[in-house]
Amino acid sequence: MSAPSAKPVKNEASTSNFIRQIIEAGLASKKHAKIRTRFPPEPNGYLHFGHAKSICLNFGLPQTYGGACNLRFDDTNPEKEEQEYVDSIIEAVQWLGFHWGSNLHFASDYFDFMYKCAEYLIKSGHAYVDSQSAGEMRATRGSLTAGGGDSPYRNRTTEESLRLFREMRDGEHADGAHVLRAKIDMASPNINMRDPAIYRIKRATHHRTADKWCIYPMYTYAHPIEDAVERITHSICTLEFEDQRPFYDWLLERLAEGGLVERPLPQQIEFARLNLTYVVLSKRKLIQLVEEGHVDGWDDPRMPTLAGARRRGYTPEGFRRFAERVGVAKSNSVIDFSVLEDCMREHLNEIAPRRMAVLDPVRLVIENYPEGKEELMDVPNHPQKPEWGKRPVPFSRELWIEREDFQETPQKGYFRLFPGNDVRLRYGYVIKCTGYDNATDTVRCTYYEDSKSGTPGADKCKVKGNIHWVSTKHAYAAEVHLYDRLFKLEHPEGIEHLNPESKKVIATQLEPNLRDSKETQFQFERHGYFIRDHGEFNRTVTLRDSWAKS
Ligand code: ATP
Ligand code: MG
Repeated sequence: MSAPSAKPVKNEASTSNFIRQIIEAGLASKKHAKIRTRFPPEPNGYLHFGHAKSICLNFGLPQTYGGACNLRFDDTNPEKEEQEYVDSIIEAVQWLGFHWGSNLHFASDYFDFMYKCAEYLIKSGHAYVDSQSAGEMRATRGSLTAGGGDSPYRNRTTEESLRLFREMRDGEHADGAHVLRAKIDMASPNINMRDPAIYRIKRATHHRTADKWCIYPMYTYAHPIEDAVERITHSICTLEFEDQRPFYDWLLERLAEGGLVERPLPQQIEFARLNLTYVVLSKRKLIQLVEEGHVDGWDDPRMPTLAGARRRGYTPEGFRRFAERVGVAKSNSVIDFSVLEDCMREHLNEIAPRRMAVLDPVRLVIENYPEGKEELMDVPNHPQKPEWGKRPVPFSRELWIEREDFQETPQKGYFRLFPGNDVRLRYGYVIKCTGYDNATDTVRCTYYEDSKSGTPGADKCKVKGNIHWVSTKHAYAAEVHLYDRLFKLEHPEGIEHLNPESKKVIATQLEPNLRDSKETQFQFERHGYFIRDHGEFNRTVTLRDSWAKS
């Protein structure tokens, strides 16, 4: 399959979408007074960025139109589901800022009812037990272009199907010996309508119902019933379920006829799933990354999971903005990863106090500044928010500066420190570089005493360069994790495309108040946004997109 092309979506708020139009029509016609949506994860992995889009949509719509969104665990496939995943999903949805109140459900709570519905379908002539082998069933299923053929068991009596189905439930048949199938139309042009299997025998222990059942409903059968039981009005799912919609409607119509579910029936609506460049958003591939140790667990800050995003410093508000910005569409596309990063930057710019941090330190000595003298510089916490005030930052004779802010032999156009040149130490004095001492790896300079920022003399010294610094004596030495894209290809397939340089650990010198400030997220001036994660700092995102195509 060829890679889909990346469509850069930038800064266009999508306030209207086709789902909203459907909802508004239903409210206008009084089909329903309130809406009810659901977010239905299968607890077989951690939630990823794609799920965030679905969560924002499903929980966001009832906030706009009135109603509620259920959190429902779609746990009909016992072999892959675990409590650990249930817990992580609950945490992630809460973290994104959404609440379900008392509307927490598990599909497995409806197993009795689903079973009852299946007996009803048999009794009303809409389902039968098929005893063909899996291979035989495949052979009679037909293809996308040719219809299938009837099973020799299709016309077995209702009594016989009912007896066999009960025996399946009671554990009298081996796994795979029989399946229950809906009786629809083997010649249907839609392969999903050719008598789909609705129950199979599977001896597996379920994370909630343990060994009570040895038959389990198929997802396509279970999901419409879950929606109907919960009186969902709009069942929003991704496009790959479009071909399932006729079965969804067929099943609920039959059950409504039998008085098992109530009208109005839920309406399935499909939208395009989120695809992003430079990541994979498939649980199967994410599980592989974790299990094979390519990352440090589900919450590794490089993972496109919500647990990882949280440690990375991505914000719930950033995700909500992103969901709004990419909107919902009916055809698949790939969103440029930078769109997500822009949303995070925008939000962090609003909430993150500024700090000075030297990530690649080299020593600077101010030769004419008195030994032992200390001053406190007044440094604004946010250049656009004077109301955030200023903080005192200690200044002394010996400072850390960025190694890249000094060049012994300057390249053309370089205007930071080089012998003979003047630059301003941000919020401090203007200095003149006097040389570099190789033996001690130290840059030397002198300062102009009357050039202090905020004093009348400051304006007299016009300089081009303005560099940040941290006093060596006061500095907070900390480990910083620089994260980059986990995959080096725009459309990665899997682990073969991992970026080997996605994580870099460096020893840095930070402004002393970072040692115990109560905030956790900061802009390190000139470097980007960072979050405190245990004792270290993780880089969330750089100030500008360093991956932009030139
Ligand atoms: P995966 O394909 O990664 O295994 P899934 O669809 O099987 O994901 P579910 O737990 O079934 O995972 O998903 C829960 C909900 O999230 C579903 O309604 C699904 O449509 C939605 N969802 C999953 N992936 C995406 C995505 N990339 N974009 C938008 N919605 C998604
Ligand atoms: Mg799914």
